[in-house]
Amino acid sequence: MRFLFVTTGLESNAPAEPFWIPLGFAYIGALLKKHGHDVHVFDRHAAMARWGSDYDRIDQAMLDTVKSFAPDVVGFATISPLIHHVAHCAQILRKQFDGIILAGGHHATSMPHLTLEKIPELDGVGIGEGEESLLALAEGNPPDEITGLLWRQNCHLSHDRKSLELTKPVAGRIKNLDSLPFPDFSLFDTAFYTRRTSSIIRGFYMSTLTMLCSRGCDKRCSFCTESLVYGGGVRFHSAEYIIEMVERTLRQYPLVDGIYFHDNDFLIEPERAEHLCKQFIKKGLAKRFSWAVQVRADRLDPDLLKLMKKAGCIKMEIGVEAATQNDLDFMQKDTTADINEKALRLCREAGISVHAYMLTKTENESLADLQTKLNWLKQNRPDTFILNALQRYPGSLLYRETGKRFFETHAWTIENIRGFYNEDIFSKVSPQERQQWMQSCFEPFFRSHHRFTRMRRTPARRWPQMYSDAIRRRLKRYEAFRKHEKSKSYLITER
Ligand code: SF4
Repeated sequence: MRFLFVTTGLESNAPAEPFWIPLGFAYIGALLKKHGHDVHVFDRHAAMARWGSDYDRIDQAMLDTVKSFAPDVVGFATISPLIHHVAHCAQILRKQFDGIILAGGHHATSMPHLTLEKIPELDGVGIGEGEESLLALAEGNPPDEITGLLWRQNCHLSHDRKSLELTKPVAGRIKNLDSLPFPDFSLFDTAFYTRRTSSIIRGFYMSTLTMLCSRGCDKRCSFCTESLVYGGGVRFHSAEYIIEMVERTLRQYPLVDGIYFHDNDFLIEPERAEHLCKQFIKKGLAKRFSWAVQVRADRLDPDLLKLMKKAGCIKMEIGVEAATQNDLDFMQKDTTADINEKALRLCREAGISVHAYMLTKTENESLADLQTKLNWLKQNRPDTFILNALQRYPGSLLYRETGKRFFETHAWTIENIRGFYNEDIFSKVSPQERQQWMQSCFEPFFRSHHRFTRMRRTPARRWPQMYSDAIRRRLKRYEAFRKHEKSKSYLITER
């Protein structure tokens, strides 16, 4: 069979920059190719790097790719804040494509029946991990009998949808992760994804690819939906698998000098992390590349941090989320403010840079609370940080309790979905006060702090390239705002 996968773009006027390579399709594509099927990716994110938000042009390029590649199946990745893009793509695609159209990923997994109902062009929805169900489809199994695939013909939408929505995580179906082939990065524009940038291993101007050592998380923070797709529990790749994956990737992409391990929590089993670090050192890989991980603050140990540093770890990303215990409890983070502070101190002592994720628009947040968060960042000095809005994603506890069944009761239009994700239902700060505080207090500190970090963390010999890239990005952004750039048609085969 011939599969075309379409990634989710961004909602931004600015041309996209390289970010985490879409790992889900890299794993699924590798498995399908291994079994003799043809796979292509139309990458809307990379297309936005060329054309910014010229969606007409990107849509036309997607349709041209469908025409030239002639797939049997087109599969979309879904995330809730951008589900209207998938609805739009499926609609324009259906007018000229009579093959199978599927959607998978977080949003489709969290509300599969509703996704089928709201996007009538879809033939089916993937629930949870996509590898085995898509392979079963490719091998000719009847679609309505495939586990993990909700097939329209078999779907009785007249049922009470409330009871059909998944509220429990689906079981992870791939028991042995090592049985999967290595992710196939060649499905993507690797010249784009491996371009040097300081936005993947944040603050370090590097050429970086993304990988997984494990799938799943053993916690249940109220805003998070990670366990929904990966199922309950955590599964791991063996150290041997990871080392071979890293070695092959570095051979195939010799300019790559950074790897971002995108596990929910790299330290979920500290003994495994320790063993892997020792192997990196033993095999000489620690000198060949630097790496970054996401970790929970409560799993850091000084000796392990020292070992990680020796094995090439340069960055820890920590979901600090809040400066106060009240906020942490509200989010069910299952940690304390003291532990967060200690984690940053331990990383600093070990010489490992930290990126802190902090959340705003939290329960009863006032202007004073915003200032407390900023003061926390100033005092604890993570090298890089971000302040994101607390969001309600279907499948999370927060959505169930406070989402007011938005997706169930509203049309999935761009206006409605943007409105829902811009809404601030928890805090006491007005939009005007927030904007003013961001402009006068947060942004000046954010900009100067990150500028300083980039200079500190990037060797001086790379500064000219780093700054010329920054100027290039600004010019492109300016250009994108003025007019949509005119260039050759964007076909996947060009790459
Ligand atoms: S936020 Fe992190 S620790 Fe919490 S459930 Fe999600 S992945 Fe796990």
